[in-house]
Amino acid sequence: MKPQLRSLLGISQLTTGQIEAILALARRMDLKRPPQLLRNRHVALLFYEASTRTRISFEFAAKALGATTTQVTPTSSSIEKGESLIDTGWTVANVGADAIVMRHPNSGAAYLLARYVHVPIVNAGDGMHQHPSQALLDALTITNHKKKLQGLRVVIVGDVYHSRVARSNAELLTRFGVDVVFCGPPDFVPEIAATLAPGVTACHDLNIALQGADVVMALRVQKERLVNKQLSVEEYIAEYQVTPLRMRLAKPDAILMHPGPVIRGMEVTSEVADGPQSCIHEQVRNGVKTRMAILATVLGAA
Ligand code: ASP
Repeated sequence: MKPQLRSLLGISQLTTGQIEAILALARRMDLKRPPQLLRNRHVALLFYEASTRTRISFEFAAKALGATTTQVTPTSSSIEKGESLIDTGWTVANVGADAIVMRHPNSGAAYLLARYVHVPIVNAGDGMHQHPSQALLDALTITNHKKKLQGLRVVIVGDVYHSRVARSNAELLTRFGVDVVFCGPPDFVPEIAATLAPGVTACHDLNIALQGADVVMALRVQKERLVNKQLSVEEYIAEYQVTPLRMRLAKPDAILMHPGPVIRGMEVTSEVADGPQSCIHEQVRNGVKTRMAILATVLGAA
């Protein structure tokens, strides 16, 4: 048996048992009458990068469980004066944070800080690398709609190359027997992407990828990343935008997911984002429950 989870840094560190335990706890979280598991605990939110959903849902999650929270952002702290990540982390831990939830533009930043500070670190996104709480909340959302993960076909479409969401999701889902298809133009889905985990394949034709899909997960596509690349914005939209017509290629009961922020008219149309198959709002609600479960787990209060 693995020792209790101390920091949540990435999906690969978790056993399937630990993933199942976090999901089971998240399912039990009652948002109307949340258990006061973290009373007198302090959670610091150290965000070096912009965030809406992740930051506020960790904040709501911590507060719902009775903890207090403090936001630390570059413009409101000594980070602006050039203080290093480790020095800032030491300060945050020494003033009394019991856990640090952190987002950083550099891959590996959360792993680095976890080696230096004595409190649990929860990775809320590190560069292009990992976003474990997103993958856990996505798994919770999928299992709310599908009987089991085993045998599902999940198509992740968009800028997979730059996406920590795609990496964490593919690592988690393939562990449970899901077939994950990365789909996008070769710049966004290089062939090597399929070597991420057994069960992952790469496909450059969305109309083929979507056939028989149980879950369509669209990712944000930044226009500037298309500039000077193989496709123009118009070509990307023509070949890879998730439209109502394309959704019909998937199974009739397929669900549509997106980690946000959604760029309407780019990776998905508004009809799809707001349509009956869309689980985007549910993902956000599940984000709070999942992050409650994560915080309770790393703080030993589960
Ligand atoms: N919100 C997600 C993330 O922080 C996805 C995105 O930003 O495109 O990785």
